[in-house]
Amino acid sequence: METLPKNTTVKKRKQFIGDTCKLHYSDSPLKIVRGEGQYLYDEKGGKYLDCINNVAHVGHSHPDVVEAGVKQMRLLNTNSRFLHDNLVEYAERITSTLPEKLCICFMVNSGSEANDLALRLARAHTGHHDAIVLDHAYHGHVSTVMDLSPYKFNQPWAKGNHHKEWVHVIAAFIAESLQSCGGQIIPPPDYFKNVFKYVHEAGGVCILDEVQVGFGRVGSHMWAFQLQGSDVIPDIVTMGKPMGNGHPVAAVITTTEIAASFAAGGYQYFNTYGGNPVSCAIANAVLDVIKKEDLMGHAITVGNFLRDEFIKMMDEFEVIGDVRGVGMFIGLDLVRNRSTKTPATIEARHIVKRLKEKYILLSSDGPHNNVLKFKPPMCLSMEDARHLLCTLRDVLQELKDLEPEIIALMHREPKMRTRKRAHSSEDDDDEVQSTTSSGIGVSTASSPVEPDSDSDIHFRVPEKVPCLE
Ligand code: PMP
Repeated sequence: METLPKNTTVKKRKQFIGDTCKLHYSDSPLKIVRGEGQYLYDEKGGKYLDCINNVAHVGHSHPDVVEAGVKQMRLLNTNSRFLHDNLVEYAERITSTLPEKLCICFMVNSGSEANDLALRLARAHTGHHDAIVLDHAYHGHVSTVMDLSPYKFNQPWAKGNHHKEWVHVIAAFIAESLQSCGGQIIPPPDYFKNVFKYVHEAGGVCILDEVQVGFGRVGSHMWAFQLQGSDVIPDIVTMGKPMGNGHPVAAVITTTEIAASFAAGGYQYFNTYGGNPVSCAIANAVLDVIKKEDLMGHAITVGNFLRDEFIKMMDEFEVIGDVRGVGMFIGLDLVRNRSTKTPATIEARHIVKRLKEKYILLSSDGPHNNVLKFKPPMCLSMEDARHLLCTLRDVLQELKDLEPEIIALMHREPKMRTRKRAHSSEDDDDEVQSTTSSGIGVSTASSPVEPDSDSDIHFRVPEKVPCLE
């Protein structure tokens, strides 16, 4: 429901809200007032197909989830120092979806908190401090996990030096089971098996972050790491985002040995909101809906259809350099040249913008902002998928027709000042890719290039180019 006119909301937002949280489509931000299933509605009733929100996992405002929360709110909300059935029932259900040794649950409120606690567990268990992370990884916004997030700290503009010295005795290896913010990367077969072997030999523990990719998004399995085979068993798994379908609830699940090491350190772990009855009621309802609506089966049918169609589009559109993904987690890696793999950052930005104008919400990400990320609510229908494909094809065709103009524009682009990246998107609902910049320039893997800020550089559109008006 809209209580203020949109321009007042914009004004108040500027006045009162920290501006490090970038808006989606910052040039003309959306005011979303209602969500239902895979659709979002703006204040004027405009209906958008949502391909961004992996948090609204079972669909925006799913009635079963809302009902579960409301019912429990009416009755009681308190903390986990009291016994409550919702908590233990949830813990039993969620651990039953994981390999047997992952059987101890800590409930928290966010993915960042989950990874922070996972690190504490690893440190308590190993007696060591340091960690191995993947390049471009993002594991959360609290200071400990910022140190594990090169996606954030490893930017030329990042102040406050989160860079840690290289060290050789590790507490943990941490990675997403499928790298999302890093550009929708599917690890090669046996990757985790081999990494886990070396990490275990070095005395470390292995943490897998399922905050974005868990809860059946890959379709064939509840957890994305299970794609690598049943013999791949992490020591700690973290989960969040889809777990509460928008309600803040997250968890860390580990082994009895690691939990015992944590307890042996004399730690009391209490988290005011973690595991409260309302959060657990909601999280239980999410599990029910995933099952009741066979959303994992749905992710396979619709996701595979989309991926296959995206792959077919590669014959038509050179700009699609790669299509990778599983289930409802698909990335289109856009390139200016398939052999050099020069990232097509500006094209990605243009496509995101054009799709929004056609009422489809999608984001781009990856080290060069050139990967179109597709991770909608799991209830996205076949009809929506067909609509997305047709619309995307139209936009890609426009782009193809526009190619010479775009190249000319790129050459006319004002000089970049400092070659810093306007990067900061850990994705979807969390943060928005700062597509404020054109990202124009020869942006190779070793030299990411992005312009300074909105105000410095604007993508100047020649009047005669119709599709960019
Ligand atoms: N891990 C991953 C992989 C994420 O994508 C995110 C958020 N985008 C987090 C952790 C942090 O989660 P939260 O924003 O809930 O703290």
